[in-house]
Amino acid sequence: MHSLYLHCQDPLWRPASPDHVAGVLSGAGLAGAREEGEAPLYRAGERFRTLVMFLGCSPGVSLTAQQAADGQPVCRIRLHDFRDVQLLESRPVPAPRCAACRAPQERPTSLAYDRLQHCSGCGESVPLYRLDWRRGAGFGRFFVEIEHVFPHEAVPADGLMSILEALSGKAWDYFYLSR
Ligand SMILES: [Zn+2]
Repeated sequence: MHSLYLHCQDPLWRPASPDHVAGVLSGAGLAGAREEGEAPLYRAGERFRTLVMFLGCSPGVSLTAQQAADGQPVCRIRLHDFRDVQLLESRPVPAPRCAACRAPQERPTSLAYDRLQHCSGCGESVPLYRLDWRRGAGFGRFFVEIEHVFPHEAVPADGLMSILEALSGKAWDYFYLSR
């Protein structure tokens, strides 16, 4: 299973109401009709392909069950809301790098988001959430998942990031989760 995840760069940020985020994403055309189920899950909206840019030809991408041939997966949008900060990471786990000097970092034994990691390359100490996880992991309390996107197959358009930044008042980032 591969997905594109969008998250706020501030790992503590969480919306007062996930429904509000869903409403904004629906209004922007990223998300369409809500699917039945436990977690908030939405079909792709009418502007999905403008807000999520697939690179090259992506024959594996289907937006509706009607388009999906032979059991091909359908891209849907799922919201994840957590009380505490979570680290979501791909398998195999990505080896983080120092964001300042690019030196590879040893995998921390404790993965608390605010634990300081000392880089022996440049001497900087930064909290784990500010390491470069090479787009294979991310910390946060709230995530927007776009299902069935392979790593680097698609990127969020600037317009989508702007919508999320306007919503939260903070910058956003993205990563790919494969497991
Ligand atoms: Zn460094």
